[in-house]
Amino acid sequence: MIRVENLVKSFGGFRAVDGASLEIATGSITGLIGPNGAGKSTLFNVIAGVHEPTAGRVTMDGEDITGLAPHELFHKGLLRTFQIAHEFPSLTVRENLMMVPTGQAGETLWNTWFGRKHIRDEEAALLKKADEVLDFLTISHLKDEKAGNLSGGQKKLLELGRTMMVEAKIVFLDEVGAGVNRTLLNTIGDAIVRLNKERGYTFCVIEHDMDFIGRLCDPVIVMAEGKVLAQGSADHIMENEAVIEAYLGT
Ligand code: ADP
Ligand code: MG
Repeated sequence: MIRVENLVKSFGGFRAVDGASLEIATGSITGLIGPNGAGKSTLFNVIAGVHEPTAGRVTMDGEDITGLAPHELFHKGLLRTFQIAHEFPSLTVRENLMMVPTGQAGETLWNTWFGRKHIRDEEAALLKKADEVLDFLTISHLKDEKAGNLSGGQKKLLELGRTMMVEAKIVFLDEVGAGVNRTLLNTIGDAIVRLNKERGYTFCVIEHDMDFIGRLCDPVIVMAEGKVLAQGSADHIMENEAVIEAYLGT
C-alpha cells in the first residue's frame, strides 16, 4: 500500500499540495478527483519522484520512498503516466512498446559475455511481449501505425500498454479520459479492470468523467485547494456537501 502523510509541495510561496494525507490500498482502483488546480497532478508528481516534496512522507508497503527518483520507483514497480501522453511519435506503436527499459543491472556486461545470440533472444522476447500487450488492449491492428498518428485515446491505451511491458505493481494514471471518445474510454476502462483483476495491478486514477470514476473506482478521494476533502465510495462522495461546494465554487 501507498501511504502519503502530510504532504506539502510549494512553488514559491504557493502551496499546490497543502498537507495532504491519503492511502492507496494494494489491489484497489482508487479514484482521485477534484476541481482544476486542486493539486492532483502535483500530488502524483511528488509521489512518482518528479518533484521533491517540500514536507511530508510517502511510504510503499512501509518503506520510505519519499523523494526517490522516477527510475528508482520504476524498479519498485511504481509507474505514472502523464496528463499529456509521452509517446515517440515517429516510431510505430509496437516499437514504442519495445522501447520500454528493461533495466536489469549488469545487463550490458551480460550481453558482452554471451554475445549476439542473447541479444537476439531478448529482442524476440520483447517482440512477443509487445504483441501480447497489443492483443490484450485490442489494438493489434494499430501495431505498425506511427504513434504520432494515433488519436488521443489510442495514445492513452499505448501508455497503459507501456506499463504492461514491465513488472508494474502500482500505476498512476493522470486524466486517462481527457479528450477520449466514449467507446475508447470504455476500452481503457476495461483494460484497467482486467489489469487489476487478472494481473493484480493497483491503480490510482485521476479523471473528471464521473461515470468512469463511479464504474471503476473504490474508494474515491476528493482533493480541493491542495488538501484531501473527502474519501469514500463514488455515491457517498457525490452526496458530500463539502465536495459539492468545492465543485460549484470554481
Ligand atoms: P490539478 O492537476 O488538480 O488540476 P495541479 O497539480 O496541476 O492541479 O496544479 C495545482 C496548482 O499548482 C495550480 O494552481 C497550478 O497552477 C500550480 N502549479 C502546478 N505546477 C506548478 C509549477 N511547476 N510551478 C508553479 N505552479 C505550479
Ligand atoms: Mg492535472
